[in-house]
Amino acid sequence: MPEVPEPKDMETIDKPIFRADYEMELVDSDWLKGAVKPKRFIDFIPEQCILCEGCVDICPWYCIFMVNPEAVGDSGNVELARQVEGGDILFLIDDNACTRCNLCVERCPTGALVQSEVSGGKKRGARAMGTVPQSQKAS
Ligand code: SF4
Ligand code: SF4
Repeated sequence: MPEVPEPKDMETIDKPIFRADYEMELVDSDWLKGAVKPKRFIDFIPEQCILCEGCVDICPWYCIFMVNPEAVGDSGNVELARQVEGGDILFLIDDNACTRCNLCVERCPTGALVQSEVSGGKKRGARAMGTVPQSQKAS
């Protein structure tokens, strides 16, 4: 019968080192806003969109919207309504909800969505937005 090894003496086991030199500090909320979000956003190229809705279907956070002209008019948002011409579909991504998971970019068959670096003027909370003529819709 094989010999059973003796259990290790507790004194010989390496014990984890616990640190006690942490300092509690209040985090500045403005710094946190900038730090949590990557400095990237999903950019939309309206000319390449064929309104297939693949991106809307795949987004896990439901932050891509394709709104028809009537809904834009009914919303009472004058600024948005001004940007939508007769038969255009308004396409927008809620940047606050978007996690930059990139699924929509990978799903898009035409390259209408790309992940871009935030530069200069684009502020947090802005929305990637554009209008797409319904005539671009793939049949
Ligand atoms: S990157 Fe992800 S979370 Fe953001 S719009 Fe695309 S699918 Fe949605
Ligand atoms: S952005 Fe791409 S995936 Fe989304 S509706 Fe347009 S063509 Fe389709």
